[in-house]
Amino acid sequence: MKKALLPRSTTLVLALVLALCTLLYASWKTVHFIWLSHRETINERQPFQPIMVARWRKLDWREVLNVPDRSKKELPWFDTRLPTNNEPPDFPYQRGPIGNSWFASSPYDPGSFLPNSRFKWKRGLAITGPGSEPMIGWHGTLHSHTGWSDGAATPQEAYGFARDRGGLDFFAVTDHPEFWLFNPGRTWDQLKEIAAMANRPDFVALPGFEYSSPIFGHYTVIGSDGVCSAIKCPELSDFYRWLLLPKNRDALVAFAHPLVQRDNAGRFEFAQMGFVPALEKQMFGVEVIHWSGHDRFHFGFSGRQPFIDEAMAQGWHTGALGSQDNHSLNWGLANARIGVLSKNLDRPSLIEALRARRFYATSSRDLEMAFDAKTSTGTWTPMGGIIQIPRPQKTKAKSTDVKLMIETRLRLFEPDQYNAPRRIEWILDGRVISRLDFEGLPHELASTEDTANYYSGEITGAFSERLVSDGERHYLYARMFMGDDFATYAQSSPIIFSGHHSPSKP
Ligand SMILES: [Zn+2]
Ligand SMILES: [Zn+2]
Repeated sequence: MKKALLPRSTTLVLALVLALCTLLYASWKTVHFIWLSHRETINERQPFQPIMVARWRKLDWREVLNVPDRSKKELPWFDTRLPTNNEPPDFPYQRGPIGNSWFASSPYDPGSFLPNSRFKWKRGLAITGPGSEPMIGWHGTLHSHTGWSDGAATPQEAYGFARDRGGLDFFAVTDHPEFWLFNPGRTWDQLKEIAAMANRPDFVALPGFEYSSPIFGHYTVIGSDGVCSAIKCPELSDFYRWLLLPKNRDALVAFAHPLVQRDNAGRFEFAQMGFVPALEKQMFGVEVIHWSGHDRFHFGFSGRQPFIDEAMAQGWHTGALGSQDNHSLNWGLANARIGVLSKNLDRPSLIEALRARRFYATSSRDLEMAFDAKTSTGTWTPMGGIIQIPRPQKTKAKSTDVKLMIETRLRLFEPDQYNAPRRIEWILDGRVISRLDFEGLPHELASTEDTANYYSGEITGAFSERLVSDGERHYLYARMFMGDDFATYAQSSPIIFSGHHSPSKP
C-alpha cells in the first residue's frame, strides 16, 4: 500500500483553503460585476439653459491668414500631391464631377463621395494672439488597418496611399497584433521601420497598433516601445500595467469606437472608462467620429451623455478623435479625421500637439478650426489646454461685484460650400451652456470669392468665472454641425479649468 504524500488532514485543509479562495474570488467578481453594471456618470443631461451669450462676426480670409500678397501664385491653396483627373479648381475650389473620381462613398460617412479635398488651406489660424506665429490645422487619422491584420494591402501601401491619394498630412497604421501569432515583436519592429521610411518632410507616418480585446474593447496605441495584444494582456489591468512600464511612458493611447462591442459594452468595455490616475497623461483621446456611428449621436454607457463626457467626468483628459478605421483600400478617403494644431509638420511637433490634446475631430475634409479660452487675467489657451483658476478673493471690500468672466473664441474656416455651419454649441461639464444657430440665407458666415463660397468666422462668448471657480475640475468644449441635416460634424478637444488644488507634478 502506497503511503500518501501528505497526511489526510493536511490535504483536507488545503482543499478547504482552495475552495474558500475560489469562493472569495467568485464573490468579488460578482460584486465587481454588479458595481460595473450599475455605475452612473456624475453629470446627467440637463435641459438646455443658456448661461453664455455668443457673438459672431464674419472673417475675411485675408484677415485671418494675414497674407501679405494676394497673388494666387503665392498661396499654397492646392495640394499638388492630390490626384488631378480634373483640372485644378479655382478658389477655393470647384467640385469635380461625381463619378469621375477616386473617392469611395460610404453611407456612414456623409459626403465622402464629394471630391473636395483638393483644396488645402495651409496658412494657419491666428489663434495664438497678435505677434505670435499662427498654427496650422494638419489633417490626418490615427486608426487604420492593412493586410497585416484584417485590412488590405501592406503598411507601405497604406502610408503611400494616405499621403498621395488621401491627401493626409499624417497617418498611423494600427493593425491588430492579435493576428501576429509568431514573433509579434519582430512584426512590430518591421512596422516601425516601414513608418520611418514613409516619414517625409510633408507627411508624418506613425506606427501604432490596436489592442483588441473581445471583452474590454479596443484601444489604439501610438508611440509605444513594443506591442501588447489581448492574447499577451488578456485582462485590462495587464494592458494598463504594460502601458505604465517605463519604456512605454511616451505611448499615447485612446478609447477606440466605444460601444462597437455591444454585447460587452454595457458591462466591461474599457471597464466603463474607470479612471486610472497614473494613465491620465497617456490616455489622450476617445473617438467621437467613427463610421460605426455609435459614438457620434452620442450616448455613452449611461445612455445620457456622450462617451467623451463620461470619460471627462471620470477624470480622464480625453481629446476628440475622428478616425477612419480603414479596413479596405481607402486610407484617407473617408471624411473622418482630426485637425492637429501645430506650427510645423514633423514627428516631434505632431506628438507634442497630440500630447497637449491640441486637436479637433471633424467629418469635414477641409475644416480648419481653433477653439480657445481665457480668464479675465490670463492669456488665450488653445483647445486641450489646462487653465488654472485662482481661488476667489475673499476681501472684505465690496469688490465682489467685479464680474470675472471666462472668454471663449472659436475661429473657423470651411471652404466647402455644402458644409455651411448651421449650429455651434458650447458644452461645460457635459451641459450645453450656449447654442448659436445660423439659419440665414445667404449664410451669415459665407463669403464669395470668384464663383465659390467659403465660410469664415470668429464666434466669441463669455460666461461667469464663478461657474468654474469652486475649486473643482471643469471642462469646456465646442462642437459644430454643418451642412444639410447637420450631417457634418466637428468637435474640439476639451479645455480643462483646474481647481485650486495644484495638480500632482509629473
Ligand atoms: Zn477596433
Ligand atoms: Zn480598428
